[in-house]
Amino acid sequence: MISNSTTPVTLKSLNSFKLDSVCPAIYFIRKESDLRPFFGWAEDSFYVLGEGSNVLMLPQISKPILKIEIKGIEIIHDVEDEIILRIGAGENWHQLVLWTLEKAFFGLENLSLIPGTVGAAPIQNIGAYGAELQECFVRCECIHIPDGKQISINKKGANFGYRDSIFKHELKGKIVITHVHLKLSRKPNLKLEYGEIPQILTNKGIQNPSPMDVSQTVIEIRNNKLPDPNILGNAGSFFKNPVIDQNQYLKLKSNYPNLPAFQLEENQVKIPAAWLIQESGWKAHRKGDAGTHEKQALVLVNYGRATGHELIALADDIRASVFQKFAILLENEVQIWT
Ligand SMILES: Cc1cc2nc3c(=O)[nH]c(=O)nc-3n(C[C@H](O)[C@H](O)[C@H](O)COP(=O)(O)OP(=O)(O)OC[C@H]3O[C@@H](n4cnc5c(N)ncnc54)[C@H](O)[C@@H]3O)c2cc1C
Repeated sequence: MISNSTTPVTLKSLNSFKLDSVCPAIYFIRKESDLRPFFGWAEDSFYVLGEGSNVLMLPQISKPILKIEIKGIEIIHDVEDEIILRIGAGENWHQLVLWTLEKAFFGLENLSLIPGTVGAAPIQNIGAYGAELQECFVRCECIHIPDGKQISINKKGANFGYRDSIFKHELKGKIVITHVHLKLSRKPNLKLEYGEIPQILTNKGIQNPSPMDVSQTVIEIRNNKLPDPNILGNAGSFFKNPVIDQNQYLKLKSNYPNLPAFQLEENQVKIPAAWLIQESGWKAHRKGDAGTHEKQALVLVNYGRATGHELIALADDIRASVFQKFAILLENEVQIWT
């Protein structure tokens, strides 16, 4: 455990926006017992950091940070086709996906190349290319910092939704996830229909794809579409895709016949935020060093020396103009740290 509580700690290399923020102290948690000194800390008096790929940090962060670096992957159940893994929260998500594919444990292939740690994955129920974490999630082990108690949250208790879970609500600012348990299968159950996946597989002449083919296809699509945070600071999609009711959708559709949409259950429709932002004129926008990505307007980028305040101002302007044009209020996917 390393700490520095007298000199402010710079966080530029610890967030994917590459924002030059400072915090009063940072503590590196490499094993569960490293959390003991913090038992009794009040809720909301600290931040928990993985790899910083879903946070926007203001220049001066007011709270100390617990940076989770607990490692290790164990196979705790291996019966017939079913595998259960117990994974340290500080493991890198994509490295885990590659490790599972090497072992021929399937289920994570569509979630390839999502930046960040395993411990952060349940927070927003990470999802991409037709898959979500909740499909393989069994439970996670957590420590409730204010009273030091260990708690286990299973799938039902996690209350997963689209980019949502109990960790963003009732448990926010209270717990640290130390380990995540995931259920995988030796039998592939491929999801091939989403986005450009079928087209790319066809172009490559792959008729019977393996999970590895799906993973490589997803990696290819992501590398073409999304900026690499090591080259251009960003946190992926800044906003969630809004969900509206059928009536509002039909009204909008009559004004905008090209409006794309995914039908959900219960009379609800999900609209791609990227389309709304682009139609509002924000693609490849840049003011100073804060902007939107040239290929994907949903991704806000730091061209070099942008501050958290400038990126928030840009996000607010985008939200206001989308609301004015479509009467839809965009919600942040990225967490703001003040
Ligand atoms: C280029 C790019 C593409 C992306 N694409 C996707 C995508 O396709 N799908 C998707 O869902 N997301 C995507 N994201 C967002 C991001 O990858 C995920 O949200 C990821 O899970 C964040 O992991 P992290 O370790 O960086 O978390 P951080 O950014 O460090 O933290 C995110 C949140 O989780 C909390 N947290 C982190 N670790 C723990 C822990 N151990 N215990 C308790 N709380 C914790 C933090 O307090 C914070 O609230 C993308 C981001 C980038 C930069």
